[in-house]
Amino acid sequence: MFTPALELEGHDINMSGQSAVILRKQSAAIIPTKQVFSWGRYPTTAHRFVHRPSWNDQVPGIMHDAADGSLLPYGLGRSYGDSCLNDGRELVDCRRLNRILGFDESSGMVRCESGVSLSDLIDVFLPKGWFLPVTPGTRFVTVGGAIANDVHGKNHHRAGTFGAHVRQIALHRSHDGLVICNAEQNSDMLRATIGGLGLTGVIAWADIQLKRVAGPWIDAELVPFDSLASFFDLSRESDGRFEYTVAWIDCFAGKNLRGIFFRGNHATEGGEKVRRKHGPTLPFALPGWLLNRYSIKAFNAAYYKMHSARKGASVVPYDSFFYPLDSIGRWNLLYGRKGFLQYQCVIPENNVEAVGELLERIARSGMGSFLGVLKQFGAAPAAGMLSFPRPGITVALDFAMRGEPTLSLMRSLDEVVENGGGALYPAKDARMSAALFEASFPRWRAFVPYIEPKMSSSFWRRVTGAQ
Ligand SMILES: Cc1cc2nc3c(=O)[nH]c(=O)nc-3n(C[C@H](O)[C@H](O)[C@H](O)COP(=O)(O)OP(=O)(O)OC[C@H]3O[C@@H](n4cnc5c(N)ncnc54)[C@H](O)[C@@H]3O)c2cc1C
Repeated sequence: MFTPALELEGHDINMSGQSAVILRKQSAAIIPTKQVFSWGRYPTTAHRFVHRPSWNDQVPGIMHDAADGSLLPYGLGRSYGDSCLNDGRELVDCRRLNRILGFDESSGMVRCESGVSLSDLIDVFLPKGWFLPVTPGTRFVTVGGAIANDVHGKNHHRAGTFGAHVRQIALHRSHDGLVICNAEQNSDMLRATIGGLGLTGVIAWADIQLKRVAGPWIDAELVPFDSLASFFDLSRESDGRFEYTVAWIDCFAGKNLRGIFFRGNHATEGGEKVRRKHGPTLPFALPGWLLNRYSIKAFNAAYYKMHSARKGASVVPYDSFFYPLDSIGRWNLLYGRKGFLQYQCVIPENNVEAVGELLERIARSGMGSFLGVLKQFGAAPAAGMLSFPRPGITVALDFAMRGEPTLSLMRSLDEVVENGGGALYPAKDARMSAALFEASFPRWRAFVPYIEPKMSSSFWRRVTGAQ
């Protein structure tokens, strides 16, 4: 049974470092709003209007008044490209829908509004011994955003995606009102909304199954490796023993790959209470030239050396294990005013050569970044119709936006992914072609009937040609 509501109103919704984004709703007139960005700050868009409902019962009115194809829900804008943007049209900023509606202490089921962030859930429930079933590499995403991109984490090989732990949602639809979706009722709409890129409607609330943990500590191990083959060996060996696995790679190394393999389990014992680290916040976009091949190469070499020296086992706080980047507020401004792109693909396991080729092309280009990640996905069936994770190796790398040279490198990576039978992740994308989207999600047309008529996005129009 759910216990009474816990209010999260009053939580600082800017704790995610989004304070630069000021969203305004004004009445009927169409007025320019301050610019809304995604995490990569590319592309730049101009929205006509940003609605900011404070209560779920305001959402039907917003949807009723909107023209077809004019709206898109917006969470904390942690998607890198344009899947959370709706250029020239309107957004429904869901961050004020941030109430925890109930919690079943015996089963760990939480019901919360869609604008509650994963960070809020951790703050409230970790002290009670419950943790997120799946978490991405930042805690500053909303429950609505985590469902709409069906996000994955370091435990994909064990737990699948976030959507696999969503038991029920309530979805605002313009014709049908508030639609309850679970395994028995409207199960197809649930599968469409998980990974549905915000296009099936506005999620009002969701029931999420949390998982029991002993505390806020992780038994972690760091293992340096020096080839792709040793990464695969480590992955195979670790996936049975460790709940969480992921690798950082030095993208300047090419086929002679080197990196650090991180693996861990929830610890049964730890130290004192974990205090969240709040590091510096970048006040403005740094000059783009600060991040160049020499500074990044030097950073990567130092990172490898430092972590190799720390190899072995230790007990670490959960936040440094899961969210190392969150300790620097607005780190995305490091890439300068032109922003950056993340390239995240998955390549089937039987195509190891394609992973090598991809890394070699990146190393040759000299354009890699310090955030290179490699992870072997597990075989869990997709929770949503358009879920990205599938068996294979996922590679994620950031690239400063330098115009045509960056885009041309990415097109050359697309070739490798497409020929290798792989796919790109919409949550990270700002430029994939319609052809690559088709190759990545060949069944996307089966999703179209579930799209809410009032919804559209910059991403969807770009990759499907929808108006
Ligand atoms: C540092 C960092 C690390 C990351 N690591 C990972 C990772 O490990 N794994 C991973 O999968 N992703 C990762 N991501 C990406 C991020 O988890 C996803 O993009 C996530 O969906 C962002 O959620 P958000 O609340 O910011 O939503 P937004 O980015 O604002 O929106 C994302 C999508 O959700 C939709 N949406 C938002 N709210 C609602 C709602 N109420 N109802 C319906 N639809 C809604 C939007 O329309 C949009 O399509 C990372 C991002 C960052 C910045």
